[in-house]
Amino acid sequence: MKVLVVEDEPQLTLRLQQSLEAAGFAVDCAYDGEEGFYLGETESYDAAVLDLGLPKLDGISVLGRWRDARRTMPVLVLTARNRWSEKSAAFAAGADDYVTKPFEMEEVVTRVRALIRRAAGHSSPEIRCGPLRLDTLAGKVSLDGIPVHLTAQEFRILSYLAHHQGRVVGRGELVEHVYDRNADPDSNVLDVLVARIRRKLKLDIIHTLRGQGWRMEPPSDAG
Ligand code: CA
Repeated sequence: MKVLVVEDEPQLTLRLQQSLEAAGFAVDCAYDGEEGFYLGETESYDAAVLDLGLPKLDGISVLGRWRDARRTMPVLVLTARNRWSEKSAAFAAGADDYVTKPFEMEEVVTRVRALIRRAAGHSSPEIRCGPLRLDTLAGKVSLDGIPVHLTAQEFRILSYLAHHQGRVVGRGELVEHVYDRNADPDSNVLDVLVARIRRKLKLDIIHTLRGQGWRMEPPSDAG
């Protein structure tokens, strides 16, 4: 899962980036509205955290232009003033949620996780696939109730496949949602990581479709 942070205060941006990365997300940052709009329009994000008061292009304009360009990722707005008119304008432009500054990092992480989960069509905070459970609030994976220890990269892959289980996820799509834009992964690194996840799960739920990508689905108990 990959998140875009658009915020012009460097210290706050850094704290958001660190908190979201610690929660298992790949994170790209933009420091003004023009750069933020450009990244949100051209890259694939699972969610965006967008400040409203930004240099060059204000956050509500950024959001409106993303929506005009049919970018549908959920957007959490950061608002400095506790004024309903500003929040109302943000919702009118296409915002999905907001937090008012100052806020706890934990609240931003929790809201982003919920937005991503709902955008993927899951109603419960716990996503299941057979005996596998992904606790989207805690960012933890378990099998039959026993915790599975994954690296950050393994978690991002498993989480993306679990959110989109039942459909084929292509190689390019997975790369876009697992790595930040400065990363340049080898072409076979995903195969290596998926193989490692399979070994840790000891469960046949991630299927490789040669030339297409991967699909996660519950094990069939037929027969
Ligand atoms: Ca600002």
